[in-house]
Parts: sequence; structure tokens; C-alpha cells
Amino acid sequence: TARRLAGVLKDPDGLAFTVGFIDGVIRPEDATVAAGALSDLVRRVPPRFLPWHLQLAVRVAARAGMVAPRVVVPVVRASLRRMVGHLVVDARPGQLGRTLRRLRRRGAALNLNLLGEAVLGAREAQRRLDGTAALLARDDVDYVSLKVSSAVPPHALFAFDETVADVVRRLGPLYRQAAASPTRKFINLDMEEYRDLDLTVAVFTTLLDQPELAGLSAGIVLQAYLPDALPAMVRLQDWAAHRVAAGGAPVKVRLVKGANLPMERVDATLHGWPLATWETKVETDAHYKRVLEYALHPDRVRNVRLGVAGHNLFDVAFAWLLAGQRGVRDHLDVEMLLGMAQAQAEVVRRDVGSLLLYTPV
Ligand SMILES: Cc1cc2nc3c(=O)[nH]c(=O)nc-3n(C[C@H](O)[C@H](O)[C@H](O)COP(=O)(O)OP(=O)(O)OC[C@H]3O[C@@H](n4cnc5c(N)ncnc54)[C@H](O)[C@@H]3O)c2cc1C
Repeated sequence: TARRLAGVLKDPDGLAFTVGFIDGVIRPEDATVAAGALSDLVRRVPPRFLPWHLQLAVRVAARAGMVAPRVVVPVVRASLRRMVGHLVVDARPGQLGRTLRRLRRRGAALNLNLLGEAVLGAREAQRRLDGTAALLARDDVDYVSLKVSSAVPPHALFAFDETVADVVRRLGPLYRQAAASPTRKFINLDMEEYRDLDLTVAVFTTLLDQPELAGLSAGIVLQAYLPDALPAMVRLQDWAAHRVAAGGAPVKVRLVKGANLPMERVDATLHGWPLATWETKVETDAHYKRVLEYALHPDRVRNVRLGVAGHNLFDVAFAWLLAGQRGVRDHLDVEMLLGMAQAQAEVVRRDVGSLLLYTPV
């Protein structure tokens, strides 16, 4: 199924079909609406990229769905679930335990992320936060990631201090749950839009400045495609150095290149603003190394542990060699995405001795 998904996405119409399928057929709660969307999608983007028997199955489902949506739509959804099963783990409690055991048997550590994009309302935000708290409460989960934008309702950045205080109040219980756990529990704040960078850093440091969280180690992401990543890393390092000197726990930064490039471009164009990211990949790649070169230093990794997250083997190898030269390999995690380039991930795991897999559920 992984090969079939790759085949679909290679076709020029494959992405349009997949996105239309997810938006129109998977997301609606009403099976009749989903069946209508499937029929419409098959007419607009005929799935010629599928083998003939699947084309036939999709066409039959599109027609039959109009007659018996409640029978057909669940079958169609289950087949997509099978197709992406190697990339997204089934979060239903019964299935989750079994899958986590199977993944750990291959020797990787798991970082779970309750899948979902920015939320639009307070109720959905609370549901997502409760979902993450439930994951973290499980005995077989010790590491979760969440984004501020998917765990709290939309906020007004004009009122920066009030927003930070509000987000800290909402996220506080999750962090206190981690701190009170008898076993180690790690929470990471992921990063998406540039507009949330300062907010996320402020939330992170304000949360961890609370006396009851002084002993909790937690993490945050920085995106090297932002020129601002290096100053942010320096600020975090200064703050963490004080925290550790005062007896607090070190923190961790996961360094990525950044996955929100198209939206940053749209934002810049719509508002007539300068682009928040570097203009070229070469600049991003260079900046990634610049941040590594700053962070992978014996005096700094004691305060800020580093996660090197990416699938570019040159950068992973560069970080690993640099950490070796500087004697700081114990303070570095290599992180990759579940289901991506699995053979390479396995070789990296063997070389490095461990691997943290980002596992959407
Ligand atoms: C474990 C893990 C966790 C992650 N968590 C996050 C996260 O929290 N937030 C997040 O944003 N991303 C996250 N990512 C995704 C990451 O930011 C990259 O998008 C992805 O890993 C591809 O980068 P690479 O180094 O693997 O590959 P490469 O192919 O070497 O790099 C691709 C990256 O280069 C950059 N790039 C490409 N073209 C340009 C251009 N024209 N101008 C500027 N930059 C350019 C982009 O950042 C692009 O994603 C995560 C990735 C992993 C593996």
C-alpha cells in the first residue's frame, strides 16, 4: 500500500485527487455529503493513475454511494486508512497499544502527535488538548508533540502578553501532568507559522519558569528556514543557562528546516510583507548548519539538548560527525518521520544507536 500511495502521488492528477478525497470524502461527518463529494470528485478528476481494478472499484463506489451512502462510505474510508497506515497510526485505544508495541520492537523511540491542523474554536481546542493529555497518561507513551495553534483557540497577537498568559493557562495542566508523573514524560511544542514563533517561545519559557515545572525537561522546535532561528536559539540558550544554573532541568530544541514555506509565501504576498524565510534552499541548508555549529557545543548542550530532525542524510551525517568531534553525541537525538525512507532510517538508527520517530496518530 505504501508503494501504491507513492504511485498515486507521482501522477500529476494524484495529489488533486488525494486532497479532494480527504477534504470531501473523509472529513464530512454526514455520509450522504461524503458520497456526493466522491461522485463529484470521480467526475472531475478521473483516477486514471490507479490500476484498472481499483479504478473500477472507485467508480462503482462513487455510484453505489449515491444509493447507499451509509454502507459505501465506511468501506471507502477504511481502504484509505489502510493506504496511509504506515504514515499515520490508528489512535483508537485498542489498536494504538498494539501498534506502539510493534513499532518499538524495531528499536525506535516514539514521539506521538495527535494529528490535526490549526483549530478554529475553543471547544475543538479543548478536545485536542484533552486528547493529548489522554495520550500522555498512557503507560506506553512517554513523549508527545503539540502545536500552540492546534491546542488553543485563535488568538490576537496585538495583545501579546495577554495571549501568552492565556495559552500558558490552557497548557499548564498538561505540563503539570507530565511533571507529576512517576515516570519520565516529555512534551514538545512544534512550530508551524512564523507568526507564532515569538508566541511559542514566550509560552515555552513562561510555562517552564513556573516553580513547580523547574524540574521538568521539555522541548520546542526551531525552523532553520527562518533567519530568526539563530537569534531565537541564542535567546533560548541564555534563558536555559540561567535555568540550569538555578538548579532547573535542561530543555531541548528540535532543529528542522521548516515545513510551512508555501503558506509563508502566501502570507508575504497577500500582505505585501518581506518573506519571513530565506529565499533559497541553499540559504536554508547553510543556516541549518550555522545553528548546529552554534548549538552543538559542550557548554551549550548541557542547557539545551539538540534534536536533529530531517531526512537529508547529508545534514544528519554532518550533525553526527560534528557532535562526535565536539564530544557531545550524548546530547543529540536524531529524529525522523514514521514511515518515511524506512531503510535509511534503519541504517541511521544502527549507526547512531537510537532514533526518535515522529508518529502522527
Ligand atoms: C521528526 C521531524 C519533525 C518535524 N517537525 C517539524 C515542525 O515541528 N515544524 C516544521 O515546520 N517542520 C517540521 N518537520 C519538517 C521539516 O521542517 C522539513 O520540512 C522536512 O524534514 C524536510 O527537510 P529535510 O532536511 O528532511 O530535507 P531537504 O530536502 O534537505 O530540505 C527541504 C527543506 O528545505 C527548505 N527549502 C526548500 N526550498 C526552499 C526555498 N526555496 N527557500 C527556503 N527554504 C527552502 C524547506 O524547509 C524544505 O522543507 C519535521 C521533520 C521531521 C523529520
